Amino acid sequence: MSEDETLAAFDRVQPIVASDAEIEAAVGDADLPALLATLALLTQDPALLAEELKPPSPSMTARIAPQGGMSPQAQAKARALATRTLIGYRDAGCPAAAAPPPEWLDRIVQFLIRSGHDDLLDLLRHEINVPDDQGAPGWHVSDFPHAADLKVAVIGSGFAGITAAHRLKQAGLDFTVFEKNDEIGGVWWENTYPGCRLDTPNFAYSLSFAQKQDWTQQFSQQPEILRYLLDVARRSGIRSHVRLNTEVEQLEFDATRSAWKVTARAADGTAHVEHFNFVITAMGLLNRPHVPDFPGIDSFQGEIVHSAAWHERVTVEGKRVALIGTGASAFQIGPEIHSQVSQLHVFQRNPPWMLPTPNYHDDLKPGMQWLLNHVPYYGRWVRFWQFWIGVEGRLHLVEVDPDWKHEVSISAGNEALRQECLATLQQQFADRPELLEHVTPHYPPGAKRMLRDNGTWPEMLKAKQVGLVTQEISHLTQDAIHTKDGKSYPVDLIICATGFKAADFLYPLKVTGRSGQDLHACWDGDCRAYLGISVPGFPNLFMTSGPNTGVVVNGSAIFSSECQVEYTLRAIRHVLSQGLKAVDCREEPLVRYNAYIDKGNESKAWAVAKTSSWYKNKSGRAAQTWPFGMLEYWSLTSTFKPEDHVLW
Ligand code: NAP
Repeated sequence: MSEDETLAAFDRVQPIVASDAEIEAAVGDADLPALLATLALLTQDPALLAEELKPPSPSMTARIAPQGGMSPQAQAKARALATRTLIGYRDAGCPAAAAPPPEWLDRIVQFLIRSGHDDLLDLLRHEINVPDDQGAPGWHVSDFPHAADLKVAVIGSGFAGITAAHRLKQAGLDFTVFEKNDEIGGVWWENTYPGCRLDTPNFAYSLSFAQKQDWTQQFSQQPEILRYLLDVARRSGIRSHVRLNTEVEQLEFDATRSAWKVTARAADGTAHVEHFNFVITAMGLLNRPHVPDFPGIDSFQGEIVHSAAWHERVTVEGKRVALIGTGASAFQIGPEIHSQVSQLHVFQRNPPWMLPTPNYHDDLKPGMQWLLNHVPYYGRWVRFWQFWIGVEGRLHLVEVDPDWKHEVSISAGNEALRQECLATLQQQFADRPELLEHVTPHYPPGAKRMLRDNGTWPEMLKAKQVGLVTQEISHLTQDAIHTKDGKSYPVDLIICATGFKAADFLYPLKVTGRSGQDLHACWDGDCRAYLGISVPGFPNLFMTSGPNTGVVVNGSAIFSSECQVEYTLRAIRHVLSQGLKAVDCREEPLVRYNAYIDKGNESKAWAVAKTSSWYKNKSGRAAQTWPFGMLEYWSLTSTFKPEDHVLW
């Protein structure tokens, strides 16, 4: 296999031949804390980690402090030092980075993070992933001769499915990935709507074991993310294990074999049954479109498309278009299409809070791109730096202060965040006070997902062909949407950016447990799982993106799913090491764990706010959200606890 075909290719950089002036210019665009760390790793020169250069990393507000809050003087010194170091590195012939002693790596990490966070070191080492792959299983199926015939099924081939497949391959296990679509990629294959891109910085929204160095943007567009996923699948050698166009419809636990009977249907309609010892679900939770059942929807003669079902035949040019919803998907679609339509009606129920993000659509600066392409491991440290910032994120701003009395906000920090966002809104809509009133949220920031704003959404709403409709939709007729105030909006195309059936985990998969019980019936709309991964009575079944694992204002879903997959490999290892066949979570740990989760959620903006969100299920319980920091989830999933399980 050529080097280009392996995951190591993600780390490849070009030798530096640039002039001193070009290097200096590139450093001018650098993310300095990450560059100092990179150069410290390359040279092991303590001057790069001098106390005066340490980024203070102030807590996040609406905005993120540039350069980790380094003073202008510290930035100037850091730039001069980094430029000199890079020139020296070029003149020395760009030697390959030697594996640093572990204490040196810790020293660099400690330089980057705020003092007093040594408890995060293991987690952070996992994220920088130098020199070894820290999340690798560390065992091989050949260590357990009786397990030679063991088979694992993975359902889904998005980020989590690819992670699971990669780790299973590292452990030498025989596995099959079932993918209902005709290509790998999950939501990043499915969502092709205009404007689709990330709203989490993409260095952080990438896999620890496949760290791409040369992202072109801070918030990449869908094609670049899909290309990345397809590259990872190819380079990790898992493609041949993926069965495309094959949807798993049913899982039945076969107690006699202690294995799952998996029924999958191919695109031609044929069903195929096969037994697998373990099943990992990697189905995501934001991929079963929710299209509201508006009265009269069937009588509408125009076209209706859900954001996640966008396809190349959908055209908007010159059409009268309705955009229903103002969540993350609508927020990207509206600005992208509004200049092409003859009319755009945006139907809003609750306005979103917007996080000022002026560089949201920008390419990375040329100097930054040059550094990523020429300095070994720089991309890894940029990723690490974004990860570190996200570890705490805005969690402290969404915590309820019981002594805080305010009709909207929930704490002094939350109020400060609200005021910062309000000030931007007031500025953006200063010329349209009637719109300002409608786009101002009346719930605490953090209660729903906050959206990235670089001014394009306000600009769209103010365009002459665009109208904001805040009245509730009453019904649809042949050619129009009607609202409860009696108004009608004739349209040719309705775009439902109305979200997903997120509360129904694993929907529409039918899962029958060891006593013949149906998983969805057990949950009865209120899904719970131990660590978000296991459910009692459903042995050898491990979920990714399960109940209460979604992060709202800190961290990324990629991190959680890596934790879930690594935990699963630990659990499988335990079963095999004991010469056993099955593991089932006990009821009491599930109850204890969920009490802990519910308590954490109770004091968060998304639980106390009256506003609707996909974070809550039909009983009003926050069933999606992880209420704590990333360290907690990392710690909980870093060991498999036999005492919380029944094993046989
Ligand atoms: P969403 O956040 O659930 O938003 C759905 C929107 O549709 C909301 O504005 C909702 O109003 C509205 N809606 C739902 N039912 C309605 C009805 N019957 N009548 C009128 N309006 C209705 O869905 P989404 O925008 O697809 O985003 C879902 C999640 O996907 C996001 O939170 C995010 O995690 C992920 N996502 C990520 C990205 C990204 O990273 N770039 C992009 C898109 C999506 P209410 O607010 O009043 O409920």
